[in-house]
Amino acid sequence: MAKFKEYQGKEQFKKAGIPIPESRVVSSPQEAQKAMEDLGRPVVIKAQVWAGGRGKAGAVKFAKTPEEAFKVAGEILGMEVKGLEVKEVLVEEKLDIAQEFYAGVVINSAKDVRGPVLMFSPDGGVDIESVPRERIAVLNVDVIKGLMPYDTLNMVVSMGVKGKQLRQLADILYKLYQRFRELDCRTLEINPLVLTREGKVLAADCRMAVDDQALFRHPELGIKIGREFMKEPTEFDLIGWSFEESDFRGTSYVAEMASPEQVRQGGYVGFHGIGGGAAMLGMDAVNKFDLQVANFADTSGNPTASKVYRVVKLIMSQPGIEGYFLAGFMMANQEQWHHAHGIVKALREELPKRPGFPVVLLLCGNKEKESHEILHEGLSDLDARVEIYGREHVYDSQFVGGRLRALVDEYRQSK
Ligand code: GDP
Ligand code: MN
Repeated sequence: MAKFKEYQGKEQFKKAGIPIPESRVVSSPQEAQKAMEDLGRPVVIKAQVWAGGRGKAGAVKFAKTPEEAFKVAGEILGMEVKGLEVKEVLVEEKLDIAQEFYAGVVINSAKDVRGPVLMFSPDGGVDIESVPRERIAVLNVDVIKGLMPYDTLNMVVSMGVKGKQLRQLADILYKLYQRFRELDCRTLEINPLVLTREGKVLAADCRMAVDDQALFRHPELGIKIGREFMKEPTEFDLIGWSFEESDFRGTSYVAEMASPEQVRQGGYVGFHGIGGGAAMLGMDAVNKFDLQVANFADTSGNPTASKVYRVVKLIMSQPGIEGYFLAGFMMANQEQWHHAHGIVKALREELPKRPGFPVVLLLCGNKEKESHEILHEGLSDLDARVEIYGREHVYDSQFVGGRLRALVDEYRQSK
């Protein structure tokens, strides 16, 4: 799921005609002070990270003067909320709250639903999980028939809401659902949806997540990597993602783990696991012998040889790595010869650029014998330190890591 920060979600609300408070996004105390001067009234300052419960975590605070805004923004910026560093805060006009509601749409994947569920509660402002079931109006929306304006009116009425806010709330619920569908969301929530003392209803918060599989339809959202990815992607990361984006056969996960400057200082190897569990054992093997991984990579789920080839090429493109390590520590069910073909082709192109380069290949599972033949035949004539292991060393991070270390040491001495 591609997750969006509160202010990004609120931009979508604005486009959908859902009222939001006035605000500015800033990344320094100075800017926060300036933003408050611009807004010219008391503000709430809120950490911008994709996590709920910021209020409880002390990442939502109020300020009455620009000086206070400076101080409070300084306290929130750099904080960690649920493991995420706060780099931006939203400086927003403080609402005079009369009542807090909840409005949300999520995908319910339960067998008898499998579709969007619209929810409304008069008990907003708290975790919706803690609200009693009878205080939440729930509607499983038929995506073919769609949502009717009277549906949302009925929902709001069923929760005992009366007066002027009734139509405003129903209208917002209706627009919320439409926006959810237009953006292919998995989650689109307003908590709290605020009724002010002046009688206006505004979205005071937003949680929004979009289905990764639909991101190609929404270039306007500017998501560079359509997968859980919490840091700003590097060029390396983006190249890695491009293999996935254009080819759904099998999976490849690639991420840069150290900067090129760090790698050039020595002690780093190019890393390539086959499957998540095997990759963990591989990391263990590397760390046991005081080496580090320059990158993470994991190809699995029966990828094509071409996908594996591209990943190996990317791994080998890292200047300063002192080895290439294929960590296939588990008995894979997929036919491993596709891996073997991809690896051979990439290494035949790359190894001549690095005479004597250490290469440790551990590959086990289905079509293991054939895969090893492909590897031996394809790599034996190259000027490189290539060692190939199979099922006799499954789980054996001690032995395989030790061989990697020995080859790296030899390589260093030879240079
Ligand atoms: P969350 O804790 O991450 O969901 O962050 P919210 O944006 O929902 O803020 C938490 C709580 O702060 C809300 O439930 C409100 O009670 C309070 N809050 C947020 N904005 C305002 C505001 O403009 N005025 C007032 N009075 N309270 C606010
Ligand atoms: Mn909230």
